[in-house]
Amino acid sequence: MIIKQHERIHADEGNLCKKCITELEELYLYLDLSVEELDLLDMPRRSFTVHFPVKMDTGKTKMFVGHRVQYNDARGPAKGGIRFHPELTLDDVRDLAFLMSLKCAVVNIPFGGSKGGVAVNPKELSRNELEQVTRSYIRAIADHIGPHKDIPAPDVYTDEKIMAWILDEYERIKGEHIPAVVTGKPIELGGSKARGYSTSLGGIHILEEALNRSNMEKHDVNIAIQGFGNVGENASRILYEKGYKIIAVSDSKGGIMNMDGLTVPEVMKHKANTGSVIDFKGSKFITNEELLTSECDILIPSALSEQLNKDNARDVKAKIVLELANAPTTIEADSIFLDRNIMLIPDILANAGGVVVSYFEWIQNLSNDYWEEERILEKLKKTMASSFNDVYSLCNEEKCSMRRSAYQLAVKRILHAERLRGNL
Ligand code: NAD
Repeated sequence: MIIKQHERIHADEGNLCKKCITELEELYLYLDLSVEELDLLDMPRRSFTVHFPVKMDTGKTKMFVGHRVQYNDARGPAKGGIRFHPELTLDDVRDLAFLMSLKCAVVNIPFGGSKGGVAVNPKELSRNELEQVTRSYIRAIADHIGPHKDIPAPDVYTDEKIMAWILDEYERIKGEHIPAVVTGKPIELGGSKARGYSTSLGGIHILEEALNRSNMEKHDVNIAIQGFGNVGENASRILYEKGYKIIAVSDSKGGIMNMDGLTVPEVMKHKANTGSVIDFKGSKFITNEELLTSECDILIPSALSEQLNKDNARDVKAKIVLELANAPTTIEADSIFLDRNIMLIPDILANAGGVVVSYFEWIQNLSNDYWEEERILEKLKKTMASSFNDVYSLCNEEKCSMRRSAYQLAVKRILHAERLRGNL
């Protein structure tokens, strides 16, 4: 059947999603998709590159390259972050937009998927240059975004300050207040309460659903977390507050371990004072590689992609891997975990809490009715629990991995919407 896939003639070979080709080919066989369905999924609906000038602080003009990909919008307006990274390419953006389409479908929120960004190292820009790059990029894509078209959000190296500039530039162009054009904004400009830690909290709801279905007891489990940024630090803090034992955490400089459990609030203070978790009093230094294969029951990669791969997957001791980072596990490691009966909870489910609260932010902006934190937290928990249940039930029915069942659920929901629209 793979031969059937390669026999297809693509309308635009250069714009195929490389990542989704591999993943969809597997689903194509597994779900027995038709060629029409596959064709519809493996290409983005709209994908464009913009080049724009920015007057730098030196007075000289520099050209920048930006991209935006709206992968699929059958289930609602496209939704996806804006990344500022020096090595960003259209291919990366396309892959990430594909994953966003699946993520929104798997948690059943009425959005499609998109992604965008600028090939730039924000650490090399002054604050003024960063603002000018942001505003110029938004001017270049303004006609293609909007509350009912495509809604940006923060991603790697972009934050709520940048979202505020995006909002302001878009509103200047349109001449009216339109807060629903972007999520992840400061609360004062229409941002949602709880958005800052929603990715980590959503992931912890998912983890607790998994633990409820396992023979592991909350108070007996040891947890190791790679990455101590927005996601890893919030996950460590919330788990600690809930009474879990965190035995190891790390950042780009290395990791720390204490088998009796780390006092996370003290680690947070240490990091705020020194810039890193390493050298924390009463802990042992470990490398990031050692953290991944440490004696833990739950491993939470919350930093970079492709950390768990064919070289270390056989040495992982954890019984549950919760992917809070995007794509931390390679395809080879995935199948090793499946063989070893390690429960891998995939990124498109595990880290979807951020986009779920972004959806709540969008509703609040459109209705001008702003919610209390309690209401947001309750709705987040309910959404994550029912999404876990959908994926887990399918996984049991089909006797497949959770990644396979999450993809299957998302693809079926997207194709169903396409069918209802008459596109299939
Ligand atoms: P961040 O930049 O705030 O933090 C990244 C952390 O990773 C930092 O502590 C950094 O020191 C650490 N790190 C960098 N290189 C490392 C290395 N070689 N080994 C170990 N740690 C290293 O980023 P974030 O927002 O916390 O995002 C982390 C991951 O979660 C990314 O994969 C991101 O795509 C994903 N994610 C984030 C969100 C969100 O809401 N922030 C939502 C979904 C997915």
